Amino acid sequence: MYPPKFDYYKATSLAEAVSLLRQHSGAKVLAGGHSLIPVMNLRLADPGTLIDIGRISELKGISASNGSVRIGALTPHALIAASADVPTVLSEAAGMIGDPQVRNRGTIGGNIAHADPASDLPTVLTALGAKIHVTGPNGNRTILADDFFTGLFATALADGEIVTAVEVVKSGAGSGSAYTKLFNPASRYAMVGAAAIVTVSGGSCTAAGVAVGGLVPSATRAKSVEAALIGKPLSEDNIAAAAHAVLNDLGDDIIGDIHASAEYRKAMAPVFVKRALTAAAQRAK
Ligand SMILES: Cc1cc2nc3c(=O)[nH]c(=O)nc-3n(C[C@H](O)[C@H](O)[C@H](O)COP(=O)(O)OP(=O)(O)OC[C@H]3O[C@@H](n4cnc5c(N)ncnc54)[C@H](O)[C@@H]3O)c2cc1C
Repeated sequence: MYPPKFDYYKATSLAEAVSLLRQHSGAKVLAGGHSLIPVMNLRLADPGTLIDIGRISELKGISASNGSVRIGALTPHALIAASADVPTVLSEAAGMIGDPQVRNRGTIGGNIAHADPASDLPTVLTALGAKIHVTGPNGNRTILADDFFTGLFATALADGEIVTAVEVVKSGAGSGSAYTKLFNPASRYAMVGAAAIVTVSGGSCTAAGVAVGGLVPSATRAKSVEAALIGKPLSEDNIAAAAHAVLNDLGDDIIGDIHASAEYRKAMAPVFVKRALTAAAQRAK
């Protein structure tokens, strides 16, 4: 399959990329190309101009300071999977993405800007309450993950804006986190994905961040699950009851396709939330 014809520009700095986007209406930035090129080959996108940001070094890498971790938008999944600096839930999810080729080329910025409902990182970043830093024709701004993912393949990015980095807080003592997913056996995309971060103090859960993806149009915070955990010991029974509460958070628009029906995905949601919570609780000990 071949993509439609396009003009190609290679940006050497962030400022140049923003300027090129301003000059070429409808242009798209090219990062790892693992989502954009397939949709162009399928003729689902025809941007006319691609601005390659793949060699902008200021957008690559992971740095940690004062309990906060900044991950450049061009950081590939493989580097995140291997990092001891990022929260476990994030490295675990990055390590479950696709295959080695996808993990070496695909980037965190491209993954979240594409906002595929079956992607893993939007779910994790929503559970973590991540900050997403962007820059564009009107300067810099920061968007909370909860507000960033607005629907099926839709984000809060305005025209001409580029994701520059993702910032997450690394939880301290008494915290544990985990990601589990029901894999699509062919692509490894999530048919159901569940991310959980819990903090335990004095034998009870004092903080929880839980989100689901894969079966809903965009990553969704499982607020009923979080509320059901707070103030309780993370016993098997309490975790099972809280995981079941995810059914209140899914809405009516559950995805069904040739890989799995909406009914099956819905039935699997509490199962995978329970697995994520159980692993997170174990790690919090
Ligand atoms: C076979 C296969 C299996 C996969 N399996 C999984 C999986 O299991 N889980 C999963 O989560 N993902 C999976 N993916 C997707 C993969 O993670 C992609 O790499 C990722 O979704 C897109 O990242 P990219 O860097 O390749 O972005 P690109 O394809 O280059 O870009 C994707 C979109 O994001 C935009 N974009 C890119 N970077 C930025 C930026 N910094 N700011 C603003 N817009 C930007 C582009 O303009 C484009 O619209 C799979 C892909 C393939 C091909």
